Amino acid sequence: MPLISVVVPCYNEAESLPVFVEACRGVFDDMVERFGTSFEMVLVDDGSTDDTVERFKEAEQVLQGHEVRWLSFSRNFGKESALLAGLEHARGDYVATMDADMQDPPSLLPAMYEKMLETGCDNVATRRATREGEPAVRSFFARCFYRLINGISTTEFVSGERDYRLMTRQMVNAVISLGESNRFSKGIFSWVGFKTEWISYDNVERAAGDTKWSFFSLARYAIDGITAFSTSPLQIASVSSLLLFLLFLVLIVIIIVRRLVFGDPVAGWASTACIILFVGAIQLFCLGVIGQYLAKTYLETKSRPSYIVKETNFG
Ligand code: UDP
Ligand code: MG
Repeated sequence: MPLISVVVPCYNEAESLPVFVEACRGVFDDMVERFGTSFEMVLVDDGSTDDTVERFKEAEQVLQGHEVRWLSFSRNFGKESALLAGLEHARGDYVATMDADMQDPPSLLPAMYEKMLETGCDNVATRRATREGEPAVRSFFARCFYRLINGISTTEFVSGERDYRLMTRQMVNAVISLGESNRFSKGIFSWVGFKTEWISYDNVERAAGDTKWSFFSLARYAIDGITAFSTSPLQIASVSSLLLFLLFLVLIVIIIVRRLVFGDPVAGWASTACIILFVGAIQLFCLGVIGQYLAKTYLETKSRPSYIVKETNFG
């Protein structure tokens, strides 16, 4: 009997949790009958200040016949940390990650599981079909973000992708094996590889409460993503330092030639300018070199595995 874990990060979701848990109960019961699976729900309270944990205890009653495991953080650590904790504590052969606000419809889970069995993939991911219902400015910046990050990162990011997925145990183990503390899940899911199938669905409004994201927190999140999955900004700074270094050397030559041809009408100008340019050039050169090493050091400190094995013939 394959076990499916459903990991749910929750921050002040007391209002939407009852609706969510009820919807999950229907889906779980249905899937137990149709596919012969069993279920475990892993609820992670990310330092909520409302009755979220009380709702967890009620969920244990509502989901009788299915296992419920919950844990509660000492403070708000952010969704990425809550997701990681959930994945680390999930024991399923398959693990789904889902938001608690019904924006990741639990009713999609059977289709995701079916697709996984049909295609033999390791990961069924979801994306929003359109950005309808989202403020135009936010859509615009979201599109810019995806264009930018796909341009500068070797990891692939899919526009409109959600954190709603169903993964095999093997893929979950790979995701957990990335020990970096600045986690950007969308990148990590893509970085670990494995075969992914996509399902699109229409945007759904929150069941209750408000989104935890403001425009500025999203902007910060975007910068987190870029710095976690690309050293391009550092490379750009470093390469432009080296180019300026070369330009300064050329300028020094021009000044010396001018001085030799036209003399020195403003006494001391040529030598002063040369000294300034020379010192500037040395500093930029050193900055460029430091940038290169810093980029390497940054990647090393993440200590990501050098590879992830999917299959062998020796067990
Ligand atoms: N969440 C969390 N910690 C946070 C913020 C959000 O665990 O600091 C959870 C939240 O309870 C929800 C999910 O992450 O289950 C997505 O949050 P939200 O709905 O606010 O994001 P949106 O759907 O607007 O992108
Ligand atoms: Mg939401």
